[in-house]
This record gives sequence, structure tokens and C-alpha cells, in this order.
Amino acid sequence: MIALSATTSLKSGFDLCPPLAQFKLMNPFIKKLLWLSHEIGREDRHLAILGEGNTSADAGDGTFWIKASGGNLAALAEEDLTPVRFDAIAASLDDTTLDDSGVREVLLASRSDANAKLPSVETFMHAVCLQEGGAQWIGHCHPVSVLQILCSRQGAAPFLQHVFPDEIVVCGRHLGVVPYIDPGIELARAVRSELRRFREEYGGTPKVILLVNHGPVALGQSEREVLNILLMLDKWARILVGNFALGGPEFLPEKNSTRIDTRPDEHYRRAQIAAQQ
Ligand SMILES: [Zn+2]
Repeated sequence: MIALSATTSLKSGFDLCPPLAQFKLMNPFIKKLLWLSHEIGREDRHLAILGEGNTSADAGDGTFWIKASGGNLAALAEEDLTPVRFDAIAASLDDTTLDDSGVREVLLASRSDANAKLPSVETFMHAVCLQEGGAQWIGHCHPVSVLQILCSRQGAAPFLQHVFPDEIVVCGRHLGVVPYIDPGIELARAVRSELRRFREEYGGTPKVILLVNHGPVALGQSEREVLNILLMLDKWARILVGNFALGGPEFLPEKNSTRIDTRPDEHYRRAQIAAQQ
């Protein structure tokens, strides 16, 4: 009798949770992208609310998956992700004649699954970051902490120097910066120019691009690295805001920042942090 009721309650509990059962059967790549989206969208983190922000990842087969337009990161489901062909986006990136409806046509035509939803308007920017930015995973959001600075008269300037070691280890020695540009294809072209300038100046790719009056983009090699970058950037921004309230930040000397960036033990620590699950 006891055994029967235990079985019954287990079965009915399972029946009540079909989304959980579905999640277990899901393709691991999609599962990771949904995990990243949910983590960024968590209400207590104040990184994104409502339809803000977007996530994407390179599937390694000429396509990348990105949040569909209007989706809510915190509650994103598999059907809110759209597979997009890189070649279709790259072919339109330099077409300056495209108006809003033309952009929408390109976005619809770029889907590798005709039943998938319209991809985010930031699809062009994600394609650029995944291809020219050398990233495998991307997270973009509108954190309260970071926007307190990016929307102030200071703009991105406070992030061009460092105040504590871990933000160098996780967010990188140098950050990319793009002034405010209308979101969409024009912003993607500006991000591409910044990635090229960055490569020329520093010989690599940034882990963070700050879009002034808009929000950060995190470029990672794993879904975990993207979340780590955004969490550390959020902490960095909150520290800076506190510093400005107490007479201004005491920035680390450039030579100390460069030293932290190049120390072998910090390279080891960086790899350990990136591998954390
Ligand atoms: Zn945005």
C-alpha cells in the first residue's frame, strides 16, 4: 500500500513536469544556450528584464542559434531560439540601402529552419562577434550597474583603466568601445570596425565590447565564460559607482594591470575560472 502510493505520487509528479522531462532530452548545445539565457535573465541579477538582451552560439555547421525577437531571457524556451546561416547575414552586412523592412526580409531569409521565429534585430551584431570576434558564445544585456556608468557623462572611460585584479583576469586587459548607434545592421558594422581596430592595436579580440548608452556584449569560448564575464563586469561597475561616490576610483597603475594580465599564475587561474561549471 505504501509502495503503491509512492509509485503513484512519483508518476503523477513526473506527469506534472513535462517541460523538465523535455529539457533532459534536449540537444546539449540548445540546453547550454537556454541555461546561459536563463542565468543572464535571472531577475535577482538585474542584468536584463522583459525582452532585453540576447544570447547566441556558433553551432559549428555554418549556422548560429540566437534568441528570437522579443523573447524573454529568463523564460526562454527551445522554440524561442532561431538557427541562422552566417553566409546570409554576411552577404547583407554591407548593404547600406536596406531599410527596416529590408532588414526584416534578410532576417527571415537567413533562418535555416523556415518554421523558426524571426531572429533578434541584433542578429547582425552577434554574427560579427562570432566570426570576427573569435567567440563561440555571446551574451548581450542591459545591466543596471553597467548602464549607471555607460549612460553617465563618464561614458565608457572608467572601464578603460582597472581598479582590482579579477576584472582584468575575467573581463580582459582591454575592452572594446562603440558609441551609441541605432541597434541593428548599422550597429553591427560599427562593432565590426571596433573589432578590427582592437585587433590592430592589441593583436587579439576583446572579451567585452561596451556599447555606450546601451549595454555590454560578452564574447566567450564557452557559455560559462560568457556568464562569468557579465557577472564580473557587473561587480566591477558596482565598485566603480561606489568609488565615484567616495571621491573617485584609485586606478591601478598601467604597469600593474599589464603585469596581472601576463602573469603565468593568472593565466592558470583564468583557465580554472573558465572551466568552472
Ligand atoms: Zn541591447
